[in-house]
Amino acid sequence: EAKKRGRNRVEFFSDELRAATIETKRTADELLKALECDEFVPYFQPQFDAHSLAISGVEALARWAHPERGILTPDIFLDVAEGLGRVAEIDALVLSKSLFQMTRWRGQGIGIPKLSVNISAQRLKDPKLLGTLSAMPIGDHKVAFELLESISFEDQEEDLKSAIRHLKELGIEIEIDDFGSGHASIVSLLELAPHRLKIDRKLVAPIDVSESQRRLVASIIEIGRSLGIDIVAEGVETMAHAEILKGMGCNTLQGYAFARPMSSQDLIIFAEEWQKLHPAAHRPATLRRA
Ligand code: C2E
Ligand code: MG
Ligand code: MG
Ligand code: MG
Repeated sequence: EAKKRGRNRVEFFSDELRAATIETKRTADELLKALECDEFVPYFQPQFDAHSLAISGVEALARWAHPERGILTPDIFLDVAEGLGRVAEIDALVLSKSLFQMTRWRGQGIGIPKLSVNISAQRLKDPKLLGTLSAMPIGDHKVAFELLESISFEDQEEDLKSAIRHLKELGIEIEIDDFGSGHASIVSLLELAPHRLKIDRKLVAPIDVSESQRRLVASIIEIGRSLGIDIVAEGVETMAHAEILKGMGCNTLQGYAFARPMSSQDLIIFAEEWQKLHPAAHRPATLRRA
């Protein structure tokens, strides 16, 4: 009886596995078509200066505008794209479309101070990256690349360092994403001399209920402050979180408490409304000082 049940269970799992494989295969086929049909678009999540609450930048996040399934988030397609070796292409699309929007917004009177995009290890390792970037209108805007903390180059550490040096020479700022979520050593990360650390949302979430978690985040902010590295908190879901983080000296806040990722059309509406609500925050620094 047990043996029979055991065998059934194996069959059950292999059915599931087969279904998952078929699903992945279907997504892979569709994804290749989607790249051809240009179905990937950036969504934008605003980031806020913790003190003035001015919009200090936006993070571009890839979305697949699927003709039948609607707007799909990266959990549906990122791993598949990675497996196909096509994630660098999505990164590139997101960057060029986001730069286009930055210029458009500026023309509409909305100056977004900074654009952050996520960059995969695949793209960072692409020898053609720097050539591609130099041909883009990056100098017109402040652009930052978010590198996952988990990007592990181990034996290619030198490659990573030189890639990052070249990016900085192009004027691109470096942010370490999901900081505190992985196993990379703080020392090796700080050696990259990033402009910003983004504290992982799993570390941010419990700060309103746990004193030890609060201390952990406070000490990360302190390290940043002493090294002149800005600290961004991601996954700020409540105003209580925002207040605690601001009190600890965190520079930038990003999360559902303020705004979700949104389309470029919605971003301009949001930014216009926000500037009306917080006019002083958005006045140019020269005027504010007068
Ligand atoms: P990430 O770069 O850490 O981006 C933050 C993620 O957290 C986004 O998920 C965002 O929608 C979500 N988020 C923002 N605020 C909150 C909050 O208050 N609470 C919660 N629970 N979540 C929040 P999304 O858009 O699904 O992206 C997931 C991940 O996919 C990103 O994490 C990033 O690692 C990756 N990704 C997104 N776009 C790209 C891209 O263009 N290229 C590459 N290589 N990776 C990308
Ligand atoms: Mg990111
Ligand atoms: Mg992150
Ligand atoms: Mg993440």
